[in-house]
Amino acid sequence: MNRDDYLRLIPKAELHCHFVSTMRVSTLLELCAEHRVPLRTDDLDSLLDYEGLPDFLDVFNAAHHALTRGDEIARVAYEGVEDAVRSGNLRYREYFVNPDNFADRGIDYPSLIDAMSDGLLQAERDFGVGFGIVPSINRSLPASAATQMVRTVLDHPRDRVLGIGKDDITPERGEDPRRFAEAYALARRHGLRTTAHVGENLTMPPENVLIALDELQVDRVDHGYRVVDDEAVLERALDAGVPFVCTPHSTAMLSGWEFSDAHRIARMVDAGLRVTFATDDAVFFKTDIGKEYVEALPRMGLDLPDAVRIARTGFEAAWCDDAERSRLLADFDGLVTALNAALRDSEGHGA
Ligand SMILES: [Zn+2]
Repeated sequence: MNRDDYLRLIPKAELHCHFVSTMRVSTLLELCAEHRVPLRTDDLDSLLDYEGLPDFLDVFNAAHHALTRGDEIARVAYEGVEDAVRSGNLRYREYFVNPDNFADRGIDYPSLIDAMSDGLLQAERDFGVGFGIVPSINRSLPASAATQMVRTVLDHPRDRVLGIGKDDITPERGEDPRRFAEAYALARRHGLRTTAHVGENLTMPPENVLIALDELQVDRVDHGYRVVDDEAVLERALDAGVPFVCTPHSTAMLSGWEFSDAHRIARMVDAGLRVTFATDDAVFFKTDIGKEYVEALPRMGLDLPDAVRIARTGFEAAWCDDAERSRLLADFDGLVTALNAALRDSEGHGA
């Protein structure tokens, strides 16, 4: 076993992935062909090489339009787990899903959640991968749509729906997280957990992390990289002990930040924040949960003990119930002990 194998085999909990982005690329092509959804090209390699935002949106929108029935949604859910188990030993995952993007095409909220759950429950039985669903606010719509989305979630309670988050394209001119304060407060009042995409690029100031913590009162932060650009915000985040779910490859694509030990994610880890990794939009950015650890992590100057801490934080920060978390953490610790022994053996004793 080498270090790449070790990084791939560490058990992983992924807490920031958008459901449609877990679609297998061959399935995307197949469903687009079946439903006559036009694509810029049907060449697998060039389809996901974007010249600019319009190319990306072309594929992003096609993936949504390709999902027209419950059985297709269940299939995509199942295959996404199967692929992530193979690429990175996925053991648990929480999915953002945007009900507004499906309601547009006649798939209502309960039908969407039940179809996803069908596929994910089958995958749970076959691969032992637990899951939760996190309906998310479409940040390109008015704030009233966010509040209405939360009302819809509350009107149709489902066991595996654990909280709310955000979704859709990052606004180019920045965003005040207070815009969705009413939706977050409503969710919290009814016992849903909350997380928010904030501080993800240079147009989103560090103060947005503070607003998420103190005003939205989130349980987790998605991205949040600007936290290291302001000493007071960093102190507050360290005090809160709030987990940050960071997505190295999608951030490289969207912000153009090179991987190095000065990368904001590396600085967050070094500062002692509770960081875990996820893919964000795996299919659209040609990444997977294994690649985030095997390729991105070492390029940010992080080592194997960092990787173990980053992966463990994913299980600690999961919104499953305490009994499931304890079981997942016990399995995690057992497997990491075995991986450490195997690596010691293969690198020559004590290396
Ligand atoms: Zn995201």
